[in-house]
Amino acid sequence: MTNANDARRIVLQSLSPVLSESCPLRSSLGRILAQDIIAPHPVPQFDNSGMDGFALRTADLSQNARNILTLQGEVTAGRLFEGSLLSGHAIRITTGSPIPDEADAVVEQEMIRLANGSIEFTGPVQKGRNIRRRGEDIQTGAVVLAKGSRLDPAGLGVLASLGIHTVLVHRKIRVAILTTGNEVVDFKDTPGPGQIRNSNAVALEGMLMEDGHDVRMLDIAKDDPEDLRRKVSGGLQSDALVTSGGISVGSHDHMPGVLESLNIEMKFWKVNIKPGMPMAFGIGQVSDRTVPVFALPGNPVSTLVTYLQFVRPGLNRMSGMQNPDAFQSFPAVLEENIPKIDSKRHFVRGIFRNENGRVVVRSTGTQSSGVLTSLMHANCLIVVPEDVRNPSAGDIVEIQLL
Ligand code: AMP
Ligand code: MG
Repeated sequence: MTNANDARRIVLQSLSPVLSESCPLRSSLGRILAQDIIAPHPVPQFDNSGMDGFALRTADLSQNARNILTLQGEVTAGRLFEGSLLSGHAIRITTGSPIPDEADAVVEQEMIRLANGSIEFTGPVQKGRNIRRRGEDIQTGAVVLAKGSRLDPAGLGVLASLGIHTVLVHRKIRVAILTTGNEVVDFKDTPGPGQIRNSNAVALEGMLMEDGHDVRMLDIAKDDPEDLRRKVSGGLQSDALVTSGGISVGSHDHMPGVLESLNIEMKFWKVNIKPGMPMAFGIGQVSDRTVPVFALPGNPVSTLVTYLQFVRPGLNRMSGMQNPDAFQSFPAVLEENIPKIDSKRHFVRGIFRNENGRVVVRSTGTQSSGVLTSLMHANCLIVVPEDVRNPSAGDIVEIQLL
């Protein structure tokens, strides 16, 4: 039995990023950069006002007494101030407008009284007040986004502000889903006696789509070595194959034998975790391509938990992501006792919340690996390490955000 950390390390070490392609900026949301983005110019490109107000020269001011300056004119966003700001004068300026060369501060509109072509206000004005400096956000030549970053909406905005319209990203990976089981029918069909709907296919597809991958849905395989073999072979035509079911040791669990018969190099089978213990991972060589096979257990919670712990990091790595196994996790105070007497790593479906500035967490109740609502209601997984027994209320535990 492989422990969870080793399993994840093996997955990551077995895989490498796919090739890259160029992509129009507006189509690149969620894609992984295959290049560093270097700023071709500063942002902002010119000193500008952070407020609606009046641009002035602080040297004209007496810092504690009443100041009276003559209004010289106005500059609005999108225009330059013509001429130069005279001593003893101020110009009205709107947010985002270029600061006239001679000005070194902007006093906000709310602070002044405007009367007869003069502005009046009291109090100190620091040099630089309300001025957004050229390059204060990004300097020319800075690495704005590193290779391996995922492009999010703010990132797209930053690239747009730099005039970048095309980016080099890793191509999307195409992941085949193969669900198995004589009892499993398409979710649109009415199950006969003893049959169940194929929820894993739909849930896995959701995971893959959320992670930005293309999905290829294969037909459900029977618990029959021939049928399974044919469909696994078909799945190997994709960049990666994720299967569910048939990976345990029951008499109808043909996946291990089929993978072996197809010369999939098995890297591990059975991981010291709960749920999801029977999971296997192997590598197929198809022509010159390395195709990972993630053989997940069929119990719906096991399928998704093993996806999160091992498949997601592996596919992230293939997608070129810089930190493929970065989990968003933090400590939380357990609100209840959690029974655990074995030496597996448990992933308990949990609900965390902020209670007066403390993050507290409780389980979603029944932890059977068949109860998918327990995961649906969860917003985190509580990680109970191998060597911890029966964590109790008040203990600090690690939670992984879902
Ligand atoms: P298995 O891993 O094939 O032994 O399946 C374990 C449990 O998960 C059984 O109760 C199956 O009926 C259930 N199961 C297997 N595949 C699916 C699926 N595609 N959708 C929903 N439940 C499934
Ligand atoms: Mg089965």
